[in-house]
Amino acid sequence: MGPKGPISVPALLDQLAEAVKPSLGGGTAGSAGIRILIDSKAFGVQKKIGQRARARQAELIPRFAGTVREVIASWAIEPINGEWQEYLTLETAQYIGWIEEVLDPERLYHPNAPCPSCGQQFYGEDRDKTLAVRYLDPETGERLHISQLAMWCQACAAEWAGDEVLAIAQAIANSTK
Ligand SMILES: [Zn+2]
Repeated sequence: MGPKGPISVPALLDQLAEAVKPSLGGGTAGSAGIRILIDSKAFGVQKKIGQRARARQAELIPRFAGTVREVIASWAIEPINGEWQEYLTLETAQYIGWIEEVLDPERLYHPNAPCPSCGQQFYGEDRDKTLAVRYLDPETGERLHISQLAMWCQACAAEWAGDEVLAIAQAIANSTK
């Protein structure tokens, strides 16, 4: 699955840094309110990824050191990571999801329902919806085939894929009838 791995994270982190910049540069005209909202979310995600990546690196492969970008990029190199390779690829898939949500929020769909795993419907200071569904291809913008659908909970990090997403979506639709 997942065509995007650790390799694409540093480039996405750069895009995230771009998104943070305007508010640090002292304000832009026009939709400043929205701008600041996006910027603070981007900044939060940057910080969250930095902390998570450093923590994972410290517990799994302490012998490789570097910047957050270098550390994440190194997760794509099997000789460095050995048995952790697959785990780290999944880990970065989550970072990619966080970044994409900031950069391009409309690519994710947020069902209005509690997480089937932890039961929470909202999380964080902004009371964001916990469930996120990726239904468009991040590269092409085309609709994904059912088998490629991905859903995750932003509160407990539970994940579902393909038919499971469909089954949960149907259950949600039935319960709100
Ligand atoms: Zn959950």
